[in-house]
Amino acid sequence: MLTVLSQHTSDTNRDRAYADLRRRFDTWDDVADAPLPALARAIRRGGLGPTKAVRIRAMLRGIRESGVPLDERAFTNVPDRDLWNTLLALPGVGPKTAACVLLFSLDRPYFPVDTHVHRVAIRLGLVPPRSGAVATQAAFQETVPDDEMYALHMNLIRHGREVCAAQRPRCSECVLRDLCPRIGVTSSR
Ligand code: SF4
Repeated sequence: MLTVLSQHTSDTNRDRAYADLRRRFDTWDDVADAPLPALARAIRRGGLGPTKAVRIRAMLRGIRESGVPLDERAFTNVPDRDLWNTLLALPGVGPKTAACVLLFSLDRPYFPVDTHVHRVAIRLGLVPPRSGAVATQAAFQETVPDDEMYALHMNLIRHGREVCAAQRPRCSECVLRDLCPRIGVTSSR
């Protein structure tokens, strides 16, 4: 839910929208059964309320229709692979969103690849230069040990934001500079 609410908004507004949603509706079943205008109003502080309302309601109904109850124990006993397939079958959910939900909300070993992770992975030569984000995610998923996924994901995002920026990466200050082939880097500082 937080992943949908975080689309095209700040973390602060995402959290406000989530808090408003939980205040307005007692249960996730209530959210799944809510009229779209009421749902959109409840999350309007996160922006794109009507669009996100459609997505959230469809996701919850999809989960419920797959036989998973919408309560706190919803996914407890569902195997990782089944959860992955369930999430990917939901409208508007791609590999990145599914992996975020699994890693951050359900503590399952999945590796999300966002724009920072993707860029850094290519520059470091961890994946072929023309790899798309989905292929990069599959490569990390296959090769990174389960208990290192969270830390590596967070560290690559931080490195991409603070050092290996999209424009003019700070290669001269980078701790990886002696190891990095700097694939595709044309200007740096
Ligand atoms: S050396 Fe430059 S391109 Fe390579 S990881 Fe560091 S900042 Fe990025």
